[in-house]
Amino acid sequence: MKAIVVQPRVKDSIHMRDVPDPEPGPGDVVVKLIRVGLCATDAEIEHGLYGEAPAGEDFLILGHENFGVVEAVGRRVKGWKAGDFVVATVRRPCGACAACKAGENDMCSSGQYTERGIMRRHGFMAEYYAEQPQFLLRIPRAVRDVAVLLEPMAVVEKGIDQTYLVQRRMKAWTPRLGLSLGAGPIGLLAAAVMRLRGLRTVVVGREDPADLRAQIAQQLGAEYMSVATRTLFDVVKEIGEPDIVMEATGSSQAVFDATQILNRNGVLCLLSNTSGDRSLPVPANLINRRLMLGNQVVFGSVNANPRHFGAGIRNVVAIDRKWPGALKRLLTDPIPWQHHKTWFDDRGTSIKATLEISSESLLSRRRR
Ligand code: BGC
Repeated sequence: MKAIVVQPRVKDSIHMRDVPDPEPGPGDVVVKLIRVGLCATDAEIEHGLYGEAPAGEDFLILGHENFGVVEAVGRRVKGWKAGDFVVATVRRPCGACAACKAGENDMCSSGQYTERGIMRRHGFMAEYYAEQPQFLLRIPRAVRDVAVLLEPMAVVEKGIDQTYLVQRRMKAWTPRLGLSLGAGPIGLLAAAVMRLRGLRTVVVGREDPADLRAQIAQQLGAEYMSVATRTLFDVVKEIGEPDIVMEATGSSQAVFDATQILNRNGVLCLLSNTSGDRSLPVPANLINRRLMLGNQVVFGSVNANPRHFGAGIRNVVAIDRKWPGALKRLLTDPIPWQHHKTWFDDRGTSIKATLEISSESLLSRRRR
């Protein structure tokens, strides 16, 4: 089959090539990919900054945000049938640590987990993959057009779930203002989830207020504040200090700025990866003083547990009902997968670009 591969740690090595078909066992589901989403992690891997090939191999099939349709099921598989729409989780357990053994491979403590399309396990930029049902989520037909957003949505769900769990340290925490730092897919999805939770929500982005990102934020009932011509500190003077900040900019400067804007008892959740070795001068005493005197929490959150994928499906359905069409507007750039290089060379103004691998209409026609 065809697949898009990279040689991890080698810059610009991406290309399409023939790879062996997956070899499903009797307990596996075979999935035909419809599309994959592209994100900053894919770009970092392609730039040679992140990612690892599976043990003993020198290439990695890229792609972790996925959406496909079941093509075949092994004889031992129950509950799945050809034609079901499906999204696979990304991370697989290390098999050794207590967190993985407890079903929380997103909290793996050995670091020996694998991640499809990222770390030591092939991903989804391919015609097919085979997987065990425990790592698959069935997608309701009504939201199949936006289901490729489920993986980033699950990352958001985990961040917000953990935020509220952390805040159980207080008896009477009543958050009012949530802030998404960054107006990419993660920032906008986090805004949607905070809106569903009834928070006043502000999205802060670099784009000007007429940008599509601002329009989507407003459709979700959030406010959009641009830092094109002012700083985050100016914005906070205007809106007040947030109780929750979901950081999704990919900029370590933004992370350290965010530690200086929280409300008392506030919480800052870090969701973006920053590869490379940038270092920064930061107002260290001020940051520490604010965190300490304000009882604030800063924490990192990576990947997602299956329960966050479950919450993601429920919330994608809820968002689609409450703000029809808003999620679809995030999918700005569908790219035929043969033309994958266009995005890696220039991501332009896309919010969420997708590589279109096979067309759902062709599949369903064939099946009828
Ligand atoms: C993916 C996560 C993954 C993380 C770190 C993100 O882009 O969405 O699933 O755990 O990168 O590799």
